[in-house]
Amino acid sequence: MKNKQIIGFDADDTLWENEVFFQRAQMQFIELHPHIKDPEDVILQIEKENIKFYGFGIKGFILSLLEASVRYSNNQPDFQNIDKIIKIGKDMLAQTIQLLPEVEETLRHLSEHYALIMITKGDLLDQQRKIEKSGLLKYFSSTEIVSEKDEQTYLEILEKNNISPKDFLMVGNSLKSDVLPVRNIGGTGIYIPHKFTWKHEEVKSTFDLQRVVELKTISALKVWLKDQI
Ligand SMILES: [Mg+2]
Repeated sequence: MKNKQIIGFDADDTLWENEVFFQRAQMQFIELHPHIKDPEDVILQIEKENIKFYGFGIKGFILSLLEASVRYSNNQPDFQNIDKIIKIGKDMLAQTIQLLPEVEETLRHLSEHYALIMITKGDLLDQQRKIEKSGLLKYFSSTEIVSEKDEQTYLEILEKNNISPKDFLMVGNSLKSDVLPVRNIGGTGIYIPHKFTWKHEEVKSTFDLQRVVELKTISALKVWLKDQI
């Protein structure tokens, strides 16, 4: 049983910091646009409208900030602000990777006993950059960069890798993207909350806790897995 189990890992805010950089960029935007009322709501609304065009990631986020800047400019876009938003985006894309505590040591240990798959969504180029710079690639048997993490996506990944859902665990900080869809197809979702979670990823309704496990830290995974044997 143990050797057959496959563990999927989300990357952003599960293996490394991510949302904190979006929040920092959003604060910079708000400072540049003091005239926009309820700026967080405005930005979130525009981002949600734009997901179907841009998907997830920094590029789409920056386009949404640019759109907010123009939309609330009273037809007089502030080109200095536009320029600053572009710079904020480039800084985000050049950001160094900050691994979360105990990630490397946990992956090193688990990779000796399980096959690990990284499953992340976002801009292809940016996710590839982060994976490469993280130095974590050596612990994974494969990586999947997808545009959405829903039940269909997970079924396709499992089928491609010849994995039965019951042998699959998915670890991540998003109930919506990492935990519930995997639970719904018969796998187990391991939820490790991060202090920052994007509002779009929040799940409002209560959910059935079957085959959902909540752990405080990634290193608790080793202990939890040991107890399953
Ligand atoms: Mg995540």
